[in-house]
Amino acid sequence: MDEIVALAKRRGFIFQSSEIYGGIGGFFDYGPLGAILKRNVKDAWWREIVELRDDVVGFDSSIIMHPNTWVASGHVANFADKLVDCRNCKHRFRADHLPSLEKCPDCGMSHTLTEPRSFNLMMQTSIGPMEDSASRAYLRPETAQGIFVNFKNIYQSARKRPPFGIAQIGKSFRNEITPGNFTFRVREFEQAELEFFVPDDGNDLSWYDTWVTARKKWYSDYGVNPDRLRFYELTETERPHYARAGTDVEYLFPWGWGELESIAHRGTYDLDAHMKLSGKDLTYFDEATKSKYTPILIESSAGMDRTALTMLIDAYDQQTIVDADAGKETSRVVLHFHPKIAPVQVGVFPLARNKPELVERARHIERGLRAHARTSYDEGNVGQLYRRQDEIGTPLCIMVDYQSLEDGTVTVRDRDSMLQDRVDAAQLRNYLTERL
Ligand code: ATP
Repeated sequence: MDEIVALAKRRGFIFQSSEIYGGIGGFFDYGPLGAILKRNVKDAWWREIVELRDDVVGFDSSIIMHPNTWVASGHVANFADKLVDCRNCKHRFRADHLPSLEKCPDCGMSHTLTEPRSFNLMMQTSIGPMEDSASRAYLRPETAQGIFVNFKNIYQSARKRPPFGIAQIGKSFRNEITPGNFTFRVREFEQAELEFFVPDDGNDLSWYDTWVTARKKWYSDYGVNPDRLRFYELTETERPHYARAGTDVEYLFPWGWGELESIAHRGTYDLDAHMKLSGKDLTYFDEATKSKYTPILIESSAGMDRTALTMLIDAYDQQTIVDADAGKETSRVVLHFHPKIAPVQVGVFPLARNKPELVERARHIERGLRAHARTSYDEGNVGQLYRRQDEIGTPLCIMVDYQSLEDGTVTVRDRDSMLQDRVDAAQLRNYLTERL
């Protein structure tokens, strides 16, 4: 993990937030490559869930909502973790993360831990100039509630009838007691949530299965190692009383299994709760049968920061290779990103930076490919160029050499096999489309 964190900083994937002021716990910034990595993860989700389907619509709600939203959702009353402080070393823990309340796991002292106290995880702010209880508002701890309260607006304006879904990607905030494990548990993060509404016609569990299968396929399509991924089916006692089924998608991180996503059958709980508190009707009126009903909800809620971190960790590899020129063993760090996830897809270089014909040709090729792939031009020592691109996970590298000037071909090096193809530069677009 230390090597991955160091690589993330060195290459510009992820930085600690406000580093020059000593950082701020539980917040991170995405550097130039990290910003693209996370965007690619979100785009891959959006493409699959919204664009490639005709039964899901997209949505984007505000971060701050009417405070009653969080009363109805149960977050004001129940969204709390139990918190324990050590009176000796002043460290703070989540009670459910401690093996026992007898001894502090950090300083080792006995009987120094306080009784567990409830701590609400919602971040508060206030609206307008007065800071009093009337102006109190919350930064949303999940994006889903924006979807529920807009259910009627959306199905009426988009002319959708269940079964259909509403999807949203956006920031959420939780005042986590113990943020940690890099970007795994943070206080500001992005969620991608799908709320899929189905009629109460006996097919609800089969829709739940359909979504579990679809989400399995998504992780597999983007190359996440199946041996490090599991779909853990929650038992009846592990899921909320209103849920008929639930699955946690978990990845085997260097520190153990951690949740990436939860998929749940939530019954009519959420719409019912908002109807009760707001007094407004959020049922679906079926024109065909002239009757109304509250749809059943199947939810998939995935963390985009955790998924981006998974892609980074899963791609990370240290290999011993034989240097082709020197013939001796050397090592390389390589990220085996899926081509759709890789921040840079094609690196383009001249064999020598001091030969204007090579430089010009390489720049020309790189500019011509920009509309078709995420490209990057670079120049310098050949070994270092490849090493740099391997470390950021660029799947293909194009080298313009002296032969290129004679016959118009270039070499294309594959990141994983390190094998090179000689390709006609005029054919590069087709070649890349196929390879990427
Ligand atoms: P955990 O048990 O790890 O605190 P959770 O069960 O509270 O997570 P959910 O409320 O189900 O999480 O949220 C859905 C998804 O949002 C999670 O699977 C995770 O990917 C993401 N998520 C939740 N909390 C955080 C956080 N503090 N940092 C980053 N991502 C988070």
